[in-house]
Amino acid sequence: MLTVEGLTVAFGHHVAVDGVDLQVDDGHVLAVLGPSGSGKSSLLRAVAGLEPLRAGSVRWDGDDLAGVPTHKRGFALMFQDGQLFDHLSVARNVGYALRLRRTPGLSRRAIGTEVASLLELVGLGGYGDRMPRTLSGGERQRVALARSLAAEPRLLLLDEPLSSLDAELRVRLAADLRRILREAGTTALLVTHDQEEAFAVADRLAVMRAGAVVQQGTTEEVWARPMDAATALFLGYAR
Ligand code: ATP
Ligand code: MG
Repeated sequence: MLTVEGLTVAFGHHVAVDGVDLQVDDGHVLAVLGPSGSGKSSLLRAVAGLEPLRAGSVRWDGDDLAGVPTHKRGFALMFQDGQLFDHLSVARNVGYALRLRRTPGLSRRAIGTEVASLLELVGLGGYGDRMPRTLSGGERQRVALARSLAAEPRLLLLDEPLSSLDAELRVRLAADLRRILREAGTTALLVTHDQEEAFAVADRLAVMRAGAVVQQGTTEEVWARPMDAATALFLGYAR
């Protein structure tokens, strides 16, 4: 379980994240939804240990992660552009991450089987020999997702994973992403400015504005009772 308390990130005098509290229970997906510049990426990077905290704490199952470097947190990060290794095949991109597992020592055959089942999971069965440059944007993001899941992270951090895709594909992939995360039992924290993406993927929502979380609840609660007119507008009520 991820627990974030009073998390504050500042760049010089500019406070990008201002005392954020949130929690992600095991097997749950929390989406942080907020407009551009509201501090979502800064929050995610701070959870990952990529940004120093001005104040507050990040804990996993009660253990304070202050001082624990990014690669020792057991988290995986996926960005808007999945950043595949372009010189490696799809299977090798995914297989590479298997070696990052906390329980190493998989045989070559076990790696092959595992890669195939991860590619099946993301709807890319049979794509193992393709090179990344021959894939569409949506396919690339699916490979990036398979690679993130391969490391069996205890927490998956997703920064606008679908934002680079066109609207139609985004909606389809959001539904897939929800199913895949549930099937894999993944605990995830996703940040996005896209309302549809947040509602389609997450169990719970935190609405962020100017560095602060202004409302939190299940997707149903937030949709049914936006806390004020600005939140309602942002959720898309006036469209
Ligand atoms: P977007 O939806 O556009 O990705 P965001 O919600 O992810 O926005 P952040 O990237 O977290 O927002 O930025 C929050 C604020 O902090 C912005 O005003 C940004 O200019 C500022 N900021 C972020 N990173 C830095 C940095 N390295 N140095 C200085 N200011 C920064
Ligand atoms: Mg961002």
